Amino acid sequence: MQSMSLDPAHPTPDPAADAATPSPQRESALSRQSQPVPRAIPAAPERTLGEPRVRNAAITNRNVSVYYGAKRALFDIDLDIGRHEVVALIGPSGCGKSTFLRCLNRMNDTIDGCRVTGDIQLDGQDIHSPELDVVQLRARVGMVFQKPNPFPKSIYDNVAYGPRIHGLVRTKLETDELVERSLTRAGLFEEVKDRLKASGTSLSGGQQQRLCIARAIAVQPEVILMDEPCSALDPIATAKVEQLIDDLRKNYTIAIVTHSMQQAARVSQRTAYFHLGRLVEVGPTGKIFRNPEHQLTVDYITGRFG
Ligand code: ADP
Repeated sequence: MQSMSLDPAHPTPDPAADAATPSPQRESALSRQSQPVPRAIPAAPERTLGEPRVRNAAITNRNVSVYYGAKRALFDIDLDIGRHEVVALIGPSGCGKSTFLRCLNRMNDTIDGCRVTGDIQLDGQDIHSPELDVVQLRARVGMVFQKPNPFPKSIYDNVAYGPRIHGLVRTKLETDELVERSLTRAGLFEEVKDRLKASGTSLSGGQQQRLCIARAIAVQPEVILMDEPCSALDPIATAKVEQLIDDLRKNYTIAIVTHSMQQAARVSQRTAYFHLGRLVEVGPTGKIFRNPEHQLTVDYITGRFG
């Protein structure tokens, strides 16, 4: 375990000495001394620390690297997403969390100049295989974005749209049932059951985000990817979505990018810490927050940077 105590390289100034010598020169020297001295940022480890692999993985990633043109954004990421677990992806802005998340349902394919290398398997199947239909993949691995983005359609049609185009429902009754089930699972049905024909965009921000979750659920995914799903929501709406994430874990596998360490601690079972495109450390969430191994992880979770 890394020591979380005060850094001995930066001792606290002695207040007695301070009081004894009140001259302006002395004061300015002391104030200079009490500024934290910038410390060299430690290097990321050669290999990810902790437990990147699990026994019952829904998704396995091996040596996954991503390039935007000539710029490399991710370096040889090995990380399993275990079935029915919530994995939190944390790290400073720009470290590659969203890029990694987008690898898992090939959303990076939609970005010009973006190239993904390495092996990614969903239930043992290579997601880059030419036999795999990417539209099907994105139904199996759904995505919820930072800003709720309901279609400009009714609440009902927002949920029914995916099942219709994927041929999951044939009759009005089947569609009604699937819409109700999906909205119920997303914790929204009771709030909207009397206005299913109202526009999805007429809902509050938190309700819109739960509608987007219902829309992802409706096409019967195995995995749900969430990219900072609460960062546009108020605290009450955030609490509802966090409770929902915990409920969803019984039926789905979830990977969530969050800049909130409290949220990662509340909703996830495993946490993966990224730094400058490298996966530094991954392990059970309690271990990462209470007993991290790498100095970079310690520095991030104690708020030294990020
Ligand atoms: P995070 O989600 O941790 O904030 P990102 O995955 O968004 O990080 O970004 C990782 C790196 O890739 C950053 O240096 C970012 O500037 C770069 N990047 C992300 N998206 C693009 C893009 N569409 N084109 C070029 N570079 C990008």
